[in-house]
Amino acid sequence: MRKIKISESTEEIVVGNIFCVGRNYAEHAKEMESDVPVNPMIFIKPSSSIISDGEKIIFPKISKLLHHEVELVIVIGKTARHIPASQAKNHILGYAVGLDMTLRDLQNEAKKHGTPWTIAKGFDTSAPISEIIRTEKIKDPQNLTIACKVNGVIRQNVSTSEMIFKVDKLIEYISSIFTLEAGDLIFTGTPAGVGAVQPGDIVEAELTGYTRISLPVIAA
Ligand code: MG
Repeated sequence: MRKIKISESTEEIVVGNIFCVGRNYAEHAKEMESDVPVNPMIFIKPSSSIISDGEKIIFPKISKLLHHEVELVIVIGKTARHIPASQAKNHILGYAVGLDMTLRDLQNEAKKHGTPWTIAKGFDTSAPISEIIRTEKIKDPQNLTIACKVNGVIRQNVSTSEMIFKVDKLIEYISSIFTLEAGDLIFTGTPAGVGAVQPGDIVEAELTGYTRISLPVIAA
């Protein structure tokens, strides 16, 4: 059971399901040589993949190519299904910044063979996440900056205004198929600039002006 702390409080939430959105920024779809989807592309990580600030990202032996993907994460606060976009914000407890760590070589193989991405996306330590910033503190989730640095060098730095499917539409779409429960997370997709990390690197992710995490990469 993984827990995430809520900023400026002693409260924690227990992480439920982790929904992730693929190709939600046009420039990233382009760098992956992928088409922009008609509906959000959804996959799932196990909740056991969650780690927090200062923990270690373990580069598993089964891969030779580990990529960082910085993402805005929605934290669900109220259980429901069939949530209209207009009601979405009533179901959000807050936001966090997360890293959708990806075994790109295994993902590329999976894409080629049409097999699931589960291992490439859901291995242990594949979901580093920050503390949660409560919704009340965030004026507009589509006007935030998310950034990723490796060893102090900026790799990704983009406004969430560039998302193809916005937060309210993602909640409407996902909840039309899956019940969204309190404690569920939605990783909303990464902008362009993804790249490789190696054992010994330090990966930082930030929700600029709100919170940040810093984690070392180590060999398995
Ligand atoms: Mg991603």
